[in-house]
Amino acid sequence: MFKSYDELQRYCQENQIQMIDFRMIALTGEIKHLTIPVSRLSPKIFEEGIGFDGSNYGYTKVEKSDMVFIPDITSAFKDPFWDVPTLSMIGDVFAISETKEPFEHDPRYIAKKAEDYLKESGIADANMISPEFEFYVFDNIAYQYEAHDIKLKLDAENAYWRRGNELYPNLGYQNRKHGGYHAAPPLDTLHNLRSEMVIELEKAGIQVKYHHHEVGGPGQLEIELEFDTPRQMADTSLLLKYILKNVAVRNGKTLTFMPKPIFGEAGNGMHVHMYLLKDGQNIFYDPEGYEGLSEIAFYYMGGILKHAKALMGFTNPSTNSYKRLVPGYEAPVSICFATSNRSSVIRIPGYVKDPAKKRFEFRPSDATCNPYLAFAALLMAGIDGIINKIDPRKEGYGPYNINIFELSPEERAKIGALPASLDEALDCLETDHEFLTRGGVMSESFIENWIAKKREEARAVNTRPHPYEFELYYSF
Ligand code: GLU
Ligand code: MG
Ligand code: MG
Repeated sequence: MFKSYDELQRYCQENQIQMIDFRMIALTGEIKHLTIPVSRLSPKIFEEGIGFDGSNYGYTKVEKSDMVFIPDITSAFKDPFWDVPTLSMIGDVFAISETKEPFEHDPRYIAKKAEDYLKESGIADANMISPEFEFYVFDNIAYQYEAHDIKLKLDAENAYWRRGNELYPNLGYQNRKHGGYHAAPPLDTLHNLRSEMVIELEKAGIQVKYHHHEVGGPGQLEIELEFDTPRQMADTSLLLKYILKNVAVRNGKTLTFMPKPIFGEAGNGMHVHMYLLKDGQNIFYDPEGYEGLSEIAFYYMGGILKHAKALMGFTNPSTNSYKRLVPGYEAPVSICFATSNRSSVIRIPGYVKDPAKKRFEFRPSDATCNPYLAFAALLMAGIDGIINKIDPRKEGYGPYNINIFELSPEERAKIGALPASLDEALDCLETDHEFLTRGGVMSESFIENWIAKKREEARAVNTRPHPYEFELYYSF
């Protein structure tokens, strides 16, 4: 939005901005924020930064957690959710003694280092990515536990009551179970809400490709974005989540990106489309190649498939992630590539005819990831594929343009399966992460801390009785 401090100051005066808000990215990808009155704005802030206590950000402990952030003026946007006119921007995190280079655990810095590594390698100038965001909109009272069941009260207009596996329809129009895909009004009761979301996204400078109702009958929606570079797209992804959740709340609803909020309905994916740009050309394109993809594209894909299990530690880092990755819901389950098969890790969308946009999508990821880390990790895996010329066709990763579940068990066994739990993904990351440390992109200590924090999350879930365990065992 702004290139210089003067521009920023002028904007604040002309728009009666009263508060300047700074957002830092916690390890998990959660946004933290703190705010100063506009009277305290000075050029010094952009040079020396502002000190803060980073002890609850999930980073490894440094110097009694005293940190500094330096706001990135280019990330500023007018926050539409405050009554007091507020301008918001992202802060890059530094350890207090070292303001020359950002803190090595700052996720935003990791994304930047991955981009720099790509450029330095000479492979390409930019990695272009476009995520698809799927989410559910629920009523304000999104969920409540009962003694032996989870009862979800969904969006009032679009509503179902759910107990166990059964849906209890409410009054009014509603999509059929799994019947929401591109539904038109009156079934698509959330169209206005989505449009309002997209208008807010555009006001914040985010380019939206389109929005629509998704398969999940009770209020599953999707918004897709235009391509951008990893760090910028990670900024945009967090801003999108923030705007969407707050527009929902403004309308008396809540919204979740949880990968599998409802048993028996489609989960929420965050598929990531990708290609590489060199000298302004998309080097994934080759008119002679299979599905119009170049050798470079296949090597990149090979790297991602080879490291898929370890990548999941970053792209699918919640316990709930693995409840989505099951057969029958268009979510990926098999480590292979395909054109039409949605159960594959990589899909080459056939509808893309434009050479400038030739690409493939990585399907496992979900929006519980920290997008800076997920995008950086995908890029590093792709670079590894190019460096080591990993051809997924020679490595037996496909193409598998068939329904994998119709294969014989022996045939199917030849195709690798994705990790079944967060712990399994973390085990894979523990043994396979050398490709992430190249160029100093992720340090050993960063990966170690990430794994430890995520193991703690898995332990916290696994040691609690699950509501469904009451169904199974209560009266045993
Ligand atoms: N909701 C599906 C998933 O969990 C994806 C549906 C689609 O292909 O758009 O990944
Ligand atoms: Mg979708
Ligand atoms: Mg997709």
